[in-house]
Amino acid sequence: MRTLTVLGSTGSIGTSTLDVVRRNRDAYGIYALVAGTNVDLLLEQIREFEPKVVVVADSRIQDLLAARLHESGQKPELANGAKARIAVSIAPEVDFVMSAIVGVAGLEATYEAIVHKKSVGLANKETLVAGGSLVMAAVKEHGTQMIPVDSEHNGAHQCLRAGRREDVSKLILTASGGPFRKTPKEKLQTVTVAEALNHPTWKMGRRITIDSATLMNKGFEVIEACWLFDFHPRDVDVVVHPQSSVHAMVEYNDGSVIAQVCATDMRMPIQYALTYPARDPAPVPRMDWKTARVWEFEPPDFDKFPLLKLSYQAQETGGAATCILNAADEIAVEAFLDERIPFPGIAEVVSETLEKVPNRTPRSVEEVLEIDRQSRETARNLVQERILASR
Ligand code: NDP
Repeated sequence: MRTLTVLGSTGSIGTSTLDVVRRNRDAYGIYALVAGTNVDLLLEQIREFEPKVVVVADSRIQDLLAARLHESGQKPELANGAKARIAVSIAPEVDFVMSAIVGVAGLEATYEAIVHKKSVGLANKETLVAGGSLVMAAVKEHGTQMIPVDSEHNGAHQCLRAGRREDVSKLILTASGGPFRKTPKEKLQTVTVAEALNHPTWKMGRRITIDSATLMNKGFEVIEACWLFDFHPRDVDVVVHPQSSVHAMVEYNDGSVIAQVCATDMRMPIQYALTYPARDPAPVPRMDWKTARVWEFEPPDFDKFPLLKLSYQAQETGGAATCILNAADEIAVEAFLDERIPFPGIAEVVSETLEKVPNRTPRSVEEVLEIDRQSRETARNLVQERILASR
């Protein structure tokens, strides 16, 4: 039996991970559930999965959870904060850590899990976008198995098993194109939060859904792919594929292209990460090849979605550029979700933050977090300036 810590258990990836566990109760047990503030869902998860430890964002939420648990009679060990997240990710009882906290809050625990040679399922993209060089150095140094859960990288991981790495010429990541694929650029100024949250093919958390609408998410994926599979950004292409059935393609030197195709359901890559290199029966209905289907592919519009271009540039620049990019985006997305800036303001705030924050190469996770803090502050000020200017 594999024992898991689920970082971000109450989120979209976390609940899908627990669903895979639910279907294979003989194969998996839960050591720790880690979440932020969703006490109601945590209570249900505690009842069902009986974790030994539960970690929440802060002491106030821990007290709330303790009071509710007291009524229910269940008694897992409770803790809160960054140190506790690390402790449950490196505990000797744990075999596998699902890294599915949103944002840079997921970095430290994931990094420590890698250093302690836990098998890691990596959904949290900020881990590589913000701390790619340190994280990959740790993976190599400790020989840790880290399987990407993001569907595109999970697909790439599968396609890369079809041949030798030195024979690969290109990686192609697919993008749904988001809800504004067909929206004219000039209309983006007035799109609403509800429209941006209406993703055509995937149901995900709020930040990644907005990042999919700006194509920032695809930019993060280009950066992630460069780190995970050792690609130069020029060898990673993005192609818009609105049906989201082909997740990634790898082109080999002879021009053959291997594509990974499966149902549009995150339980597929989650289960792959849990069972690799074995393959268990699918946790979701398989693709029905008796039904006629059309798959479209088209190039992305870099002019309409400038954050995609900025991601390529940031990865080429190196140092902390991608960390600054991610931090600024997190703040800008928050401001858009709160209706404080319009949709195109997200890219403007990110681009201006990149210009303002001095780039340097971080030598430790603490330094990454310091640059992250500094970039957020700069982005926050830029948001504030825009709000004042628009009055
Ligand atoms: P959600 O917003 O749905 O969930 C985020 C999770 O993180 C929740 O459990 C939340 O807890 C928890 N969390 C947030 N802040 C903290 C904190 N400070 N301490 C502890 N827990 C915290 O996000 P998703 O599941 O969509 O995404 C998770 C990660 O996976 C992201 O990095 C995303 O980019 C990546 N990803 C997601 C995909 C998807 O299909 N959803 C696909 C590929 C990658 P609570 O809600 O209790 O506050």
